[in-house]
Amino acid sequence: MRREEMIGKVRERSEPWDIVVIGGGATGMGVAVDAAARGLSVALVEAHDFGKGTSSRSTKLVHGGVRYLEQGNIPLVMSALKERGLMRQNAPHLVHDLAFIVPNYSWWEAPFYGIGLKLYDMLAGKYGFGASKLLSKEETLERLPALEPEELRGGVVYYDGQFDDARLLIHLGLTAADHGAVLVNYCPATGLKRDADGYVNGVIARDTETGEELTLPARMVINATGVFTDTIRHMAEPEAEPLMVTSQGIHLVFDRSFLKGDTALMVPKTSDGRVLFVIPWHGHAGAGTTDTPVDEATLEPRPLEEEIEFVLDTASRFLVRPPTRADVLAVFVGLRPLVKGEGKTSALSRDHVIHVDTSGLLTITGGKWTTYRHMAEDCVDHAITLGKLPDVECPTKNLRIHGYQEKSAALGSLEVYGSDAEKIRALAAGSPALAAQLHPALPYIAAEVVWAAREEMARTVEDALARHTRALFLNANAAIAMAEPVAKLLAAELGRDDAWIAAQVKEFTELAQQYRVV
Ligand SMILES: Cc1cc2nc3c(=O)[nH]c(=O)nc-3n(C[C@H](O)[C@H](O)[C@H](O)COP(=O)(O)OP(=O)(O)OC[C@H]3O[C@@H](n4cnc5c(N)ncnc54)[C@H](O)[C@@H]3O)c2cc1C
Repeated sequence: MRREEMIGKVRERSEPWDIVVIGGGATGMGVAVDAAARGLSVALVEAHDFGKGTSSRSTKLVHGGVRYLEQGNIPLVMSALKERGLMRQNAPHLVHDLAFIVPNYSWWEAPFYGIGLKLYDMLAGKYGFGASKLLSKEETLERLPALEPEELRGGVVYYDGQFDDARLLIHLGLTAADHGAVLVNYCPATGLKRDADGYVNGVIARDTETGEELTLPARMVINATGVFTDTIRHMAEPEAEPLMVTSQGIHLVFDRSFLKGDTALMVPKTSDGRVLFVIPWHGHAGAGTTDTPVDEATLEPRPLEEEIEFVLDTASRFLVRPPTRADVLAVFVGLRPLVKGEGKTSALSRDHVIHVDTSGLLTITGGKWTTYRHMAEDCVDHAITLGKLPDVECPTKNLRIHGYQEKSAALGSLEVYGSDAEKIRALAAGSPALAAQLHPALPYIAAEVVWAAREEMARTVEDALARHTRALFLNANAAIAMAEPVAKLLAAELGRDDAWIAAQVKEFTELAQQYRVV
């Protein structure tokens, strides 16, 4: 993916695209992959870096959603379990099985969770990841030695999937581009075009790097802007009733020693009835999440003090070594795009919603990362009908995601790149400077930054450190220390000067303060 080429293709095109997508998160990128793989012409504009929104801030689980079983939403769980299986099949370099333990401290928990998780296994059918099992106290502690042993009776082990959300998002972008989609980052939609009858027939966007206004005529415009959904809907219909409510969730990241071993901890009911996970991720331990209603959607939501205290408190009850504020290496916050309903946000449906405004604007929202493919299929099917587009069947059930590689663990710290890893290794082999690790606490090497700029449209230090590598999400202080060398590497690739380097380091350092807990 090269940004100049992508913008050139947008500029050159005068005939309408079959589909123009607004929003480059999991939902929009999934739509771009689906539409491009069906042979439709598709362009996507993203206001910031691809995945800047919620899609890089998830719990990193590819799951059916054990807690939705409790809500009785069997169709949602079944559909998500099937998607979980397809994700692992199509992106084995990015989606892995992960064992979870639900610890039992009361007599009723073993039968209650044991039966619930057997139902979870059963609903996965042929897409199952492994059978759940009741464990004795000794077996539980053997698998999860970090667990608080006092009053522990045993546990239930079950299996779900885990992934690197921002990396999968980038690889979805590369997959869409491999199929001819045109994707532009740093290019917010600023307005919609309409035909003589008032129907939406295009998008006006602004290249924030140059200020140039771009016009993208379209047969169908798809709004996939997550928590910003209503902002785009109001461009089409200022009086439209808002569709969305927003809730935020935080995660705290610690050293891996807080969660020894490769098994995750799942607490199905915290003191206020929510679910808490403590999971191993990229050599660290991540704990979350909360569910706090918020009034305003922003791209950089901030953690609330009470959320930090809640996660620390709850994790401390279950871990033998209680984490403190001083142990937090990073905190990251994501906003859930939830479709309006009654009651608490944690009880609102995680089903996706497709909405057509009277202007013809097609909106897709809700759902979850795990169901992005199914959401995209449903959305493009609707777009084909509404936009009278060629009726091609959806091919994504068996579509390999860019970088597809089985047994990718052998690629070591470059595993998430799959088949691209060897190209990054070749870059590193050509120069000792590019083979150098950027910080002793994290495995990232300089060649990854060069690769991100050359092939993945990374434009800023934040892009390189927050999403193309996950440094900011793993260790905010280490990321701050990496900012200057990363800015220099990017400047050499993108043709920027010393003033740009200084401005980037300053901007990133300010942003990264929000990812620290002081
Ligand atoms: C804390 C938390 C944990 C979660 N954990 C999981 C999990 O473990 N597993 C799971 O399956 N799901 C999980 N989810 C749900 C999942 O992350 C979301 O459903 C999904 O990422 C939403 O993707 P999206 O593309 O709809 O939104 P986003 O990722 O927010 O994408 C919307 C994009 O639109 C862009 N945009 C906005 N305005 C404009 C404009 N004017 N022009 C162009 N672009 C614009 C934004 O910059 C943004 O990049 C979690 C959610 C949260 C909040």
